[in-house]
Amino acid sequence: MAGRVPLMAGNWKMNLSHIDALGCLQKLAWTLADHHYDAARSECVVLPPFTDLRTVQTLVEGDRLPIRYGAQDVSPHDDGAYTGDISADMLVKLGCTYVVVGHSERRQYHGETDEIVNAKARRCLAKNLVPIICVGEGLDVRKAGDQVAYTVAQVRGALAQIPASAMADLVIAYEPVWAIGTGEVATPEDAQEVCGAIRATVAELYDAPASEAVRILYGGSVKAGNIVALMAKPDIDGALVGGASLNPEEFAMITRYYDLPM
Ligand code: PEP
Repeated sequence: MAGRVPLMAGNWKMNLSHIDALGCLQKLAWTLADHHYDAARSECVVLPPFTDLRTVQTLVEGDRLPIRYGAQDVSPHDDGAYTGDISADMLVKLGCTYVVVGHSERRQYHGETDEIVNAKARRCLAKNLVPIICVGEGLDVRKAGDQVAYTVAQVRGALAQIPASAMADLVIAYEPVWAIGTGEVATPEDAQEVCGAIRATVAELYDAPASEAVRILYGGSVKAGNIVALMAKPDIDGALVGGASLNPEEFAMITRYYDLPM
């Protein structure tokens, strides 16, 4: 993990209205402050629904909270007749730092292909937003033992035409689909196997400095009880957290994983 600041990103998915967001974020900030949270040791990020972003911006900026935030999706287009879409410029104006692209739920329910994921990632980078590019295999692929080849192919597709210089401003989240929201977490060894292969792929596509700069997260039923063992693995630089991020106390513990017992 040398030189890479761990990142704990809470994907709220389609949960919490802008009113609920206030309470959740305040509780998260208070809990972190109570425990002398140090942002240099791990970055705390929330990814609320679009409708919460203005409220989150107001609270984070007004109270100078040590929390960054972002969106769960972005349009690959600049502007125009794309009903229902949200542009990167709009997210920049709302103070977003991060954007999730290619989450398995968007790939599954909205037909997002590697090409679309790549276009969205490039749009983010063009606007100085950090894309969190999600990749990961389904249960059938895992059962066939093809998880590395499958995930690496997704990474190659997502990184097409993206230069080596962008790797420090880009995050890849390995999220095996069978572990998302199921309570079934990949073992640290399983997660490391694929995260290590992702880093090796970045080295192969670019060079060693690029592969050392890119942050690779694990996602899939992460909780306070399993984060420490995951973070002990050399190629896991943080977590993309779904369900557990809706509980501010638990998410604060995950963020401060370094204070938790092994
Ligand atoms: C996710 O939605 O990205 C996720 C990892 O969800 P959960 O932590 O609930 O498995």
